[in-house]
Amino acid sequence: MESVLLREIWQARKRISAITQPTPLIYSENLSALTNKSVHLKMENWNTTHSFKIRGAANKILSLSPEQRSRGITTFSTGNFGISVGYVAKQLGIKAVICISNRVPQAKVNVLEATGAEIKVIGSSQDDAERYSRELEQKHGLSVIHPFDDPKVIAGYGTMGLEILYDLPEVDTVLAGLSGGGLHSGLGVTLKTMHPDLRLIGLSTARGATMYESLQAGYPIELQEKDTLADSLLGGIGKNNQYTFSLVQAYVDEIKVLDEQLFADGMTYMLDKHRVIIEGAAASGIGAILHQQVHLGNHVVIVISGSSVDTSTILKLMKDKFG
Ligand SMILES: *Cc1c(COP(=O)(O)O)cnc(C)c1O
Repeated sequence: MESVLLREIWQARKRISAITQPTPLIYSENLSALTNKSVHLKMENWNTTHSFKIRGAANKILSLSPEQRSRGITTFSTGNFGISVGYVAKQLGIKAVICISNRVPQAKVNVLEATGAEIKVIGSSQDDAERYSRELEQKHGLSVIHPFDDPKVIAGYGTMGLEILYDLPEVDTVLAGLSGGGLHSGLGVTLKTMHPDLRLIGLSTARGATMYESLQAGYPIELQEKDTLADSLLGGIGKNNQYTFSLVQAYVDEIKVLDEQLFADGMTYMLDKHRVIIEGAAASGIGAILHQQVHLGNHVVIVISGSSVDTSTILKLMKDKFG
């Protein structure tokens, strides 16, 4: 796997420090007591843009030439990547056009609009949004910023692994939501290069487990998307996937496909026990542990990947659970 190197991840760490700060790793008293293991939460929800996507967006955009920056950028996204691209573009004074499908929840659309980027709602899948983004590239010369299948973006996500190892060198198990595989590619390069025995686990939604199904098939496939609490885990991996398919194949030890109840239980647990609102994709690790879906080592890190959720959604889940 020579496509992304650990050295590039260290370079990314330095580059993005102008735009974003490291996030805290907190010890979970409740989950540790429940599992008899030492369980920590990597609080990526506390990024300025409410998700880890700022790491990849910042590394990629800061690597563009002055000429590319002056022509502007475009991306297609289930929401969080677009929010991070919009934010970074605003910081750097770059014009950005964000293409999203009509499945992106209103909370994310509102935050997207607030970044000042131009928003285009196209079709009902990430693939539709991608096609439009490519058109903008061809017609107007905008640079397409890919949300996961790009070495610079993957290296940006890999910086999270450096922080985890710095804070908890004894870590032996890492759980995170898996969609396009950019996050797991970055974590895989960092964590597995430095700690080959560590277990890296991917958690996907049963309503669109494209990476899982693609690995089973042996090549990238396309799936029909359905609504899910874990909307950030929707989106294809691209028929012409260049990096993340093989990086996930090489580095991810296990992928679990989760039902809606697990995302709901993870979200309500986090609010009830830790007093923090997170989105479904980010609650996948907690849900998987609560429902004993994964075998844990002794020092576990759960990536709390983001918090872009409609307030009405979390309120309804809390009401269903606690009355
Ligand atoms: C993007 C995202 C993921 C999945 O990351 P991939 O690189 O697409 O696998 C998980 N959680 C949240 C909150 C996300 O925004």
